[in-house]
Amino acid sequence: HVEDEEEKMSPSKKQVLDHGVKVASHYNQLQEVGRAARSRSRIFFMRNFNNWLKSVLIGEILEQVRGAGSQQVSVLDLGCGKGGDLLKWRRGGIDHLVCADIAGVSVEQCQIRYDEMKKKSHRNEKIFTAEFITADCSKELLSEKLDDAELMFDICSCQFVYHYSFESEQKANMMLRNACERLKPGGYFIGTTPDAFELVKRLEASDSLSFGNEVFKVTFQSKGSYPLFGCQYHFNLEEVVNVPEFLVYFPLFEHMAKQYNMQLVLKQRFADFFEEKVKKENHRSLMMKMMALEPFPSEDGLQASDSAEEYCHAKEHC
Ligand code: SAM
Repeated sequence: HVEDEEEKMSPSKKQVLDHGVKVASHYNQLQEVGRAARSRSRIFFMRNFNNWLKSVLIGEILEQVRGAGSQQVSVLDLGCGKGGDLLKWRRGGIDHLVCADIAGVSVEQCQIRYDEMKKKSHRNEKIFTAEFITADCSKELLSEKLDDAELMFDICSCQFVYHYSFESEQKANMMLRNACERLKPGGYFIGTTPDAFELVKRLEASDSLSFGNEVFKVTFQSKGSYPLFGCQYHFNLEEVVNVPEFLVYFPLFEHMAKQYNMQLVLKQRFADFFEEKVKKENHRSLMMKMMALEPFPSEDGLQASDSAEEYCHAKEHC
């Protein structure tokens, strides 16, 4: 365990322990608790909300890509984790997916999930091809690890990941390079990341160095001054996240992306995104289905690793 290892180290060595090692170790140790346990979790509805939001974002961006005439859709899932978005790509009918993550165990689980998904698919359903890469995407060049060195992406999706790279300019830039340099002209980089302005606002309003509630806690080391890179805070969320993260100063991120010819299309807070998208019938009905799910029945023939979203999907096909 990283924290145990850290305990034994001298203070100078502690600083040397790479942040990427901490992140990989944290996510590698996260247990796959199964659907039933997840449904009892206090963050069950928050997870479902986040999944709904990602589903809508991914669905709408795929519409844009198809509308622009892309026939064969290739996607890079940067920081794919255990493959929580695989079903979204399946629903979107993409052709090829590259899954990359720093945590080797997560990448393995992602691959297992993909293999199971393929096995369980309907006879005449064509499931996308996929490749899996374990890499620190804030240090290593992904294009050098691709099966097809010429592969170009329509979309790079980076969900709840980019903030880990804002430790230094070099890392943030490498992550951005991996996200953008192999995008087709007109391709999209989509993602979700904490709002640095909101975090700082809440910290400044707090009479200590932390804020939160019974489910989450954010702790800074100091306040009053916030460096552009390496502004670290510790994020603790129930049984899921307990790892240091970094503020992403969005105007700087937007500026950095310009070197890859990227242009900002949309930036929205979750609450505003929700307000806007929930008005559409199809998005609202997915939200209703996902939120209405109470602890899952156990004998429905689904795998323990199925998420609320997979459960909805399976029910629709039953
Ligand atoms: N994108 C997935 C999702 O939405 O379910 C996982 C999100 S999880 C909060 C953050 C993921 O980012 C973890 O799987 C972690 O290993 C990955 N990650 C963090 N730093 C990374 C890096 N430098 N390179 C690649 N992956 C990284």
